[in-house]
Amino acid sequence: MDNCRKQGILYIVVPCYNEEEAIETSAGKLADKLIQLKEDNIISDKSRIVFVDDGSKDSTWDLIRALYEKDDNIIGIRLAHNRGHQNAILAGMMYSMDYCDFTITIDADLQQDINAMELFIKEYEAGSDIVYGVRNSRNTDGFFKKTSATMFYKIMRFLGCSIYENSADYRLMSSKALEALSEYGEVNLFLRGIIPDMGFKSSVVKFDVFPRMQGESKYSLSKMFTLAADGITSFSIKPIRLVFTMGVLALFVGFIMIIHILYEHYFGFTVSGWSSILMSVWILGGAVLMSLGIIGEYVGRNYMETKRRPRYYFWDVLSRNNDSDKSDKKEKTQ
Ligand code: UDP
Ligand code: MG
Repeated sequence: MDNCRKQGILYIVVPCYNEEEAIETSAGKLADKLIQLKEDNIISDKSRIVFVDDGSKDSTWDLIRALYEKDDNIIGIRLAHNRGHQNAILAGMMYSMDYCDFTITIDADLQQDINAMELFIKEYEAGSDIVYGVRNSRNTDGFFKKTSATMFYKIMRFLGCSIYENSADYRLMSSKALEALSEYGEVNLFLRGIIPDMGFKSSVVKFDVFPRMQGESKYSLSKMFTLAADGITSFSIKPIRLVFTMGVLALFVGFIMIIHILYEHYFGFTVSGWSSILMSVWILGGAVLMSLGIIGEYVGRNYMETKRRPRYYFWDVLSRNNDSDKSDKKEKTQ
């Protein structure tokens, strides 16, 4: 089999949540990029841009519809309600999987440099099934986002997840890799962790990050925490082991307290003994509560996973594709 893949069908997947301010400018830039890549014979003429409206409450979907109506290269998908960035990307990729040879996912605000796409495709042609975009720097982020992100990646690596530091969801995936990804049924989705875990041939491309030009960040603090919690709990049972260690430590402190309390008791300083008992109650109470919290988190997630609810549901699809386009794919996955 030859290892050199040429002019595959590219589907660019763009998740959009309340992006009415950014989408038109971004769509223009992406459409130009697509045309340029086609003219340079880098990708097939059948390549498309897929906008996934993640249940926006503003006019994003109307704008996508307008873009679809005037440009044959544009496909629109609308999710029934807001399922979050990760699920929106997944929905777009799972839709595209049947029509394309590879997808590139990119944010709707185009903070990621679209000119890195050529490099992604080069790596794909050289045989990589997954190409990770890794940020050159985090200079566009504020102090809080920068430190919290750095800490998060450190924790994830400590917990044994093979995540790339500063990797974004700007990523190329071949349809073969997408096929494998479709087998993952988990509800608490953390793509940046799952994808490196799949073990496909991969490479890394560095890209520049720009400040957001239109609109505001759609990643609220609570969405960021949910993503971090999904990342941590879906990849490791180390926090549970930490509970055990904490239990041992608390017990140890408890024993020392008992010696101290007995000493106080026999030598008559009972008033000060009162404070040490109170202290131990607090320490143990805190440890027990924290442990329960962590275990509860896992039990809760387990409960969600066992339900196996669908992660998204296509509300509407605007596409000129029909079933025969599926068989035009250059690359067959079986
Ligand atoms: N996004 C989404 N669903 C959400 C939140 C965000 O699809 O619930 C999309 C958003 O439209 C954008 C991308 O995810 O295309 C990244 O969001 P944003 O640029 O606001 O995040 P930041 O760059 O601030 O981390
Ligand atoms: Mg952004």
